[in-house]
Amino acid sequence: MSAREILESGATALGVRLDEKQLDAFVRYTALLLEWNARFNLTRITEPEEIAVKHYLDSLSLLKYVQVPPGAKMIDMGTGAGFPGIPLKIALPGLKLTLADSVKKRLTFLEDVVGQLELPNVKILHGRAEDLGQVRAFRWEYDFAVARAVAKLNVLCELCVPFCRTGGAFIAWKGPDVDDELAEASRAISVLGGKLESVHRFVLPNSDLQRSLIIVRKTEQTPRAYPRKAGTPERDPIK
Ligand code: SAM
Repeated sequence: MSAREILESGATALGVRLDEKQLDAFVRYTALLLEWNARFNLTRITEPEEIAVKHYLDSLSLLKYVQVPPGAKMIDMGTGAGFPGIPLKIALPGLKLTLADSVKKRLTFLEDVVGQLELPNVKILHGRAEDLGQVRAFRWEYDFAVARAVAKLNVLCELCVPFCRTGGAFIAWKGPDVDDELAEASRAISVLGGKLESVHRFVLPNSDLQRSLIIVRKTEQTPRAYPRKAGTPERDPIK
């Protein structure tokens, strides 16, 4: 199967229908990723078929488990080369997406992607989660905060939960073994005003790769003290 076929059939297995224009956008995204990757290190995965599964279908897996209403506001914290945010935006054109990362170079790549793919309603935000999460304009603003491969769950909750409005959700992409991380994060989740809602364990379509999605519902406002200063969540996770 070609990368395009892998993506189309895999998305269908996740309950996501991608039309020709959307599939074209993914093909263009792959071309830009590989072009920029030759100059800057953005991803270790360089085969289009593997990109389709490990980056695109992995990002889209959220849509199998979570209903994202049209016009929902989402922040992708530590987005790197745009995962999971950009694939979700291509699949859900109405999404109001903010892509945030502390490394400027990756954001320059994303500006190119957003421009070339003509994706409306995408903001690109440079900064550390710990600082951005204390800014009134971003704190308590989003229906969804999402993050893949950024930090351990106890740390990640402090970096992401402050951005969610009450009733919104924080979603973390993880590998198959999440029990220890979940146990370690249970106090952080409640201190930050969240509640563990569900853990979905699944195999990525067109592969034998096991993944988990952790969904934390925001039930109360996060206390003002969080997130703490840059570096503190990682150095001294909430216990
Ligand atoms: N989410 C992308 C993915 O799944 O491919 C990128 C993962 S990469 C391993 C981790 C990213 O998180 C990097 O781009 C890094 O700059 C960013 N990051 C790590 N800690 C951060 C923080 N405290 N605030 C903002 N971005 C952070």
